Amino acid sequence: MSADCPTCLDPHDLSSQPPPDAAPRVAGRPPPLVPGQSSGKGGAGKAQRLARRLATNAALAEAADRAGKHEVAKALADCGHTQALWVCGACGKTSWVDYYCHHRLCAICGSMRQDERAARITAMAQGRSVRWLTLTQPRCKDVAEGVATIRAAFGRWRRLKVIKNAIVGGVYQIECLPKPDGWHVHLHALFEGGYLPKPIAWKTWAAALKIETASVNLQGAMGLGKIARYLAKYTCKPSDVAGNEARYIAMQADLTHSRLWGTFGTWHNALPKAKKPTPRACPHCGDTTGYVPVARGYCYFGRDWADVYDQLIGNSPTTRPRPPPQGEAAA
Ligand SMILES: [Zn+2]
Ligand SMILES: [Zn+2]
Ligand SMILES: [Zn+2]
Repeated sequence: MSADCPTCLDPHDLSSQPPPDAAPRVAGRPPPLVPGQSSGKGGAGKAQRLARRLATNAALAEAADRAGKHEVAKALADCGHTQALWVCGACGKTSWVDYYCHHRLCAICGSMRQDERAARITAMAQGRSVRWLTLTQPRCKDVAEGVATIRAAFGRWRRLKVIKNAIVGGVYQIECLPKPDGWHVHLHALFEGGYLPKPIAWKTWAAALKIETASVNLQGAMGLGKIARYLAKYTCKPSDVAGNEARYIAMQADLTHSRLWGTFGTWHNALPKAKKPTPRACPHCGDTTGYVPVARGYCYFGRDWADVYDQLIGNSPTTRPRPPPQGEAAA
């Protein structure tokens, strides 16, 4: 497996040389895509990507089970290929709904979230002068500490007058990659602004980190769509996770309350808002107010839930494998 963040540009790795298989840097060009990241949509490629994400989820679920996190394990194991039973409080009927777990580590939900975020970032950046920035710090043993350190340093750095003048606002993502000797925690940002000389960026970033030297990569954000997708990258890309499942599960626990993604400066609260999902409607009566997954039924039915459950669900299963799409043979 490649040793460094494959699309991040560069000396990321402060403790060693980039591996020989690292993507070559091309001056003035956006980082290359991770292999397989943006091949055409649909067809065999789509099925392959889904299969890879399901496999990643299965491996993560196994690691979660071993760590005693059985609920997380079940959510990840079921996502994307099962259906959950829903119950309607208005007409009293049940129906099956495709299940998505929305867990942060989920490779399937993460890729959907990535599409949505990337579209919002692209919309925001349209017509503005934006550049792409990668800030790195030395390897850390503790991932939560690494995130706290880089976040604090980024705040200090942006408040420096010289940086404030050059960087108006933008969107950042903190990326945590497991390495044999700890965590490689670094920050990517797409920012709007003017000229920021590299030597000043390097010097001030090291000062913000309170170390002698630190690496910064700055470049024009050509290929905005690709950059936006990268910036919206989800936590668990299959290629990063392979072999490190247990560490990702542990990382999730360490970073429960940490945001790894956000806007800053003039972009804060200016990014187009995520569309609120339209509430699901009962296929029998069209009601949207009392149509809920059985797993959350007690929240809606309160005291009556036990009765509702007995009458409507009884001993029938509440999850089932998702039926194959029409026109495809069952496996
Ligand atoms: Zn990176
Ligand atoms: Zn999911
Ligand atoms: Zn209904």
